[in-house]
Amino acid sequence: ETAMANWQSTLIAGASFAILAACGQAKTADTEPAAELEAFAAVDTNRISTASAGDEWLTYGGTYDEQRHSSLIEVNTETVSDLGVAWTYDLATNRGVESTPIVVDGVMYVTSAWSLVYALDAKTGEELWVYDPDVDRAVGVKACCDVVNRGVAVYDGKVFVGVIDGRLEALDAETGEVVWSKITVDQSKPYTITGAPRVVNGKVLIGNGGAELGVRGYLTAYDTTTGDKVWRFYTVPNPEKQPDGEISDAAFEDIGNVTWGDEGAWVTDGGGGTVWDSIVYDDVNDQIIFGVGNGSPWNREFRDPSGGDNLFLSSIVAVDAATGTYKWHFQTTPGDNWDYTATQTIILADLPVGEDGESRRVAMQAPKNGFFYVLDAETGAFLSGDAFVPMNWAEGLDENGRPIEIADARYGAVPYEQLPGPLGAHNWHPMAFNPDLNLAYIPAQEIPQSYARDSRFETQPVGWNTGADFAAGVPPIAPPEVAKFLRSTLKGRLIAWDPIAREARWTVEHDNAWNGGVLSTAGGLVFQGKLNGDFAAYDAATGDKLWSHDLKSGGASGPGTFMIEGEQYVTITTGWGSAFGLSAGFAYDETVPSTVGKVVTFKLGGTGEIADPDFPMIDKTPKGEAFGDEALIAEGAVHYARNCTVCHGPLAVSSGVLPDLRWSAISGHAESFKGVVIDGNLAANGMVSFADHLTPEEVESIRAYVLAQAYAAVPADAGGN
Ligand code: CA
Repeated sequence: ETAMANWQSTLIAGASFAILAACGQAKTADTEPAAELEAFAAVDTNRISTASAGDEWLTYGGTYDEQRHSSLIEVNTETVSDLGVAWTYDLATNRGVESTPIVVDGVMYVTSAWSLVYALDAKTGEELWVYDPDVDRAVGVKACCDVVNRGVAVYDGKVFVGVIDGRLEALDAETGEVVWSKITVDQSKPYTITGAPRVVNGKVLIGNGGAELGVRGYLTAYDTTTGDKVWRFYTVPNPEKQPDGEISDAAFEDIGNVTWGDEGAWVTDGGGGTVWDSIVYDDVNDQIIFGVGNGSPWNREFRDPSGGDNLFLSSIVAVDAATGTYKWHFQTTPGDNWDYTATQTIILADLPVGEDGESRRVAMQAPKNGFFYVLDAETGAFLSGDAFVPMNWAEGLDENGRPIEIADARYGAVPYEQLPGPLGAHNWHPMAFNPDLNLAYIPAQEIPQSYARDSRFETQPVGWNTGADFAAGVPPIAPPEVAKFLRSTLKGRLIAWDPIAREARWTVEHDNAWNGGVLSTAGGLVFQGKLNGDFAAYDAATGDKLWSHDLKSGGASGPGTFMIEGEQYVTITTGWGSAFGLSAGFAYDETVPSTVGKVVTFKLGGTGEIADPDFPMIDKTPKGEAFGDEALIAEGAVHYARNCTVCHGPLAVSSGVLPDLRWSAISGHAESFKGVVIDGNLAANGMVSFADHLTPEEVESIRAYVLAQAYAAVPADAGGN
């Protein structure tokens, strides 16, 4: 009720403001020089700072505070039922799409798989230009979680994109031509970039990913005009624990180095700590607050046997925006052992959580580890932290916010079935915050994992290096019932979290675990997609479902909204995305939608249609004879789990993003299979050679396992196609 009253009164005020603004524009047009008016994408820090996420969507999280809360109210609890498709644009990919569109001066800038950038007319979807950074597809094997990209930054007439191969590029916003291009990583190492850059005061900020494979993380600021490096903040020390000559040196000398031992796999694997998603500018304190990822390898016993906290893994870190000088940090998961990244959405807000209920500027995060944190934004002081999902790795937090661990969670040879698992209680899907209701909307999930020490762990040059055994608990041959059981253990929900009362206000249970990013609006709505294509609007105050539309593809990315010529648009990019998108075949089975990358934009009264996906049907029959005894198939299951699962899916069931090996013609022939896995015949497609750590005999055992899984599944799929 209060939300409704709120948007209704704002609607009236907004209408009068729109009239005034229109008059104001006409006046300015006469007095300002033409060149000023024609400047393309003239975005600066002041424009982003003073904008609400309203008529435009100027930065990844909507505003610098990254609340993903729009002031627009034309689409509201009363009118949302009339929301229909305004236009769609085909991104021409079936790989993961995670992009939040940026909208500036009526132009939408959006990214797709392989870091392609598109400029579209935001009102009509008409294509203005497309930029393809022409990435070597062999880079795909370095991407833990598909070759995704979450979006661009726009500033001073330029569009900035982080490219999956480690480049940061500045494009002319009007033409898409490259203004400058910088390589931000050592490309001989398994670095990738999937995150959206952020821009502040002439600097563009970018991190990277790769901590599953083995890299050393950092955040870098580049000059927006020249592309020159301004500062770099490493998140873990170098192996010698000596100065890098970078701004992070002092922090490691003061507090970081002592949290690392002198030996362990971190010395060769880089230690991890990649800054792959959340980078927030706090304009009140003129600082950058960023989230740091998991350790390389995951298992601390291998990474750093000395058992330290390993700063700044799984931490929220604040640095001075101009210089990168360390200001504070809060480590969510000391001595990370589980891929518990703290890279998830960081939201800044003013909350009445001070002494006597006074307002305090806070930073909020719901990282993978399952606790919702509220920190003082200026000092990093821990204000509160509470579990927002069931968990069995910690009993709670102590008065400093340090987890009280359950001993068994530091897994050994015996598998420990744990919640949250490495996909986290919350992953990359953007969280949102409604400052009128003081509610955070968390795309939460329960995806358990059997963690066990990988007794054969040894760093490999290709593929994942976690020190955790992905073969633990996997049955040698899994009939369809196993997939069904696993599916039943997965849960997803949208939680409206009250950070003041420190509890859920309302919860919407989803029928799939991996849901989507969230948009909050002053119209009293919360928008969220799901991987099964259901894009819905909920009442922000109650969680009642008020509207939904079938996207005919996954809806995982963060939706956005904007206003052009008095009409409010709501937009979302479709496609699957991330680790679960690659590996979730078993979780969706026959209900899996085809994965089609599109931009789908809605408006009130929209009557457009989303075209049906046009994909060739897969012939779900084995293409070769089953072979091998139980021992060979069991051996193949182990090699498959360790080398193939993360891309081709657990139990050899693919999500459809990458080939399902059970139905592949290549699996039917020993020579063809070896040609791909050992000889690298499909390296140009991203399937590089595994010759360095699989023998031809081991590869043949994988083929035996894949075919066994194919025949085990045939009864369920027989009579299909
Ligand atoms: Ca990770």
